[in-house]
Amino acid sequence: METTTFSKSNQVIIQNFINGEWVSSEGNQMEEVPNPATGEIIARVPISSKEDVDRAVSSAKEAFKSWSKTPVTKRARIMFKYQQLLQENHEELATILTQENGKTKKDAMGEVQRGIECVEFAAGAPSLMMGEVLPDIADGIDSGMYRYPVGVVGGITPFNFPMMVPLWMFPLAIVCGNTFVLKPSERTPILAKYLVELMHESGLPKGVLNLVNGAHDVVNGLLEHDDVEAISFVGSQPVAEYVYKTAANYGKRVQALAGAKNHSIVMPDSNLDKSVEGIINAAFGSAGERCMACSVVVAVGDIADELVAKIKEAADELNVGNGLAEKTSLGPLIRESHRERVLGYIEDGEKDNAKLVRDGRVELRENESGYFLGATIFDYVTEDMKIWKDEIFAPVLSIVRANSLDEAIQVANKSEFANGAVIYTSSGQAVRQFREEMDAGMLGVNVNVPAPMAFFPFSGAKKSFYGDLHANGKDGVNFYTKKKMLTQRWF
Ligand code: NAD
Repeated sequence: METTTFSKSNQVIIQNFINGEWVSSEGNQMEEVPNPATGEIIARVPISSKEDVDRAVSSAKEAFKSWSKTPVTKRARIMFKYQQLLQENHEELATILTQENGKTKKDAMGEVQRGIECVEFAAGAPSLMMGEVLPDIADGIDSGMYRYPVGVVGGITPFNFPMMVPLWMFPLAIVCGNTFVLKPSERTPILAKYLVELMHESGLPKGVLNLVNGAHDVVNGLLEHDDVEAISFVGSQPVAEYVYKTAANYGKRVQALAGAKNHSIVMPDSNLDKSVEGIINAAFGSAGERCMACSVVVAVGDIADELVAKIKEAADELNVGNGLAEKTSLGPLIRESHRERVLGYIEDGEKDNAKLVRDGRVELRENESGYFLGATIFDYVTEDMKIWKDEIFAPVLSIVRANSLDEAIQVANKSEFANGAVIYTSSGQAVRQFREEMDAGMLGVNVNVPAPMAFFPFSGAKKSFYGDLHANGKDGVNFYTKKKMLTQRWF
């Protein structure tokens, strides 16, 4: 890959990628993309129109004719090549990611790895796409199920995982024989350009993967388009709900992964130091901008004071700064407007009389242009407070105190979200109760972020997920394929 450090004088001018070519958007609207650590404008992204979507969809529809008939072994081989190219460019991709998203280089390296694992899973398409047969379902009659691609798929992705989330979608969709139109977040459009470029270097025919940059017009263009058969969406709850309802209304299959408010329950019998390590990573890693961030700790029993003191002590050790610097452990938020919103939540917490144990505002670097905020911790948070209810999506941790595991699970289950939950304990019985009663899709025991790997579904529930089949794993294969049954008798 060419140079991967961007600046005001070395800006990336993003284009759309349609039918195998980089093309300008039909309209002239462009948006600036700042590096969240410096405020410097490092890219310009087109805010495309529905006409751009039409061009991309018609190219994908045309390509579907031959791509869907290309042997699955050939499609899989392209994924092997893609895996190799991504691996070779691991470091460069992570450097781009840090510059456009702000997360630390270490987090970015981890995210790139997670993305590569999705491609590795997709490369297993010949096995994944197998149907099933049952001979002799009646006298002389055999029956079997065959899988086929669904057609043109639209993918809409968020800013917080610009590598991993697009790779949840297009490799698996494409290897199953579909063609794809990707609409990445307009706040982090740079990596998508490189992901698409490397995909084509791997030998993908033109029109199979198209990229249309922009915002809601592009999203609506995909949701309403007659020739788009399926929509994969990842983003915030209100938009996920809107996408789900609109796409379904237009007769499409849709999976929409949404926001979260994940609880970590710390039991009195847990290893406190290890629990604190996990909590710090899960609450403040990627500046709390993760759908699997643990933004609420429920401290059970008389360990609460000691736990809170240890969390504060560990948070004091975090180094706020540019994610490219080796010593940085807490990067900036994505935009100034997001930081303003988060500051509003900190004020809400104070007004509601939660105890501000650590005030990240002392690290607000007013004299620098990056969107920094230090780790912020509230104790004595209760379920009526806004800081408990809403997804803040920032390094702001709420601590709730509970007397028992029953009470802790009850609190966590009151959230309207149900993405993930973690328990820190040494009791098998507590784990069993947690697994049985905790209403969240992705559970963890003594692990900081229980995000499943690419071969398992990414399984939120309640307002964290709209749809039936989740992203990744066999769910992903089912989502990107349609089934045909063949019942046959030969005379
Ligand atoms: P977002 O909802 O603002 O944007 C997501 C996508 O939707 C973007 O491509 C954006 O352009 C588009 N969009 C935004 N507003 C729209 C509108 N009004 N109409 C049509 N399209 C619109 O989300 P974000 O801030 O980029 O990402 C963070 C959110 O994503 C958080 O809520 C996080 O929890 C969630 N997320 C969830 C998962 C999961 O697996 N459940 C994973 C990653 C992120």
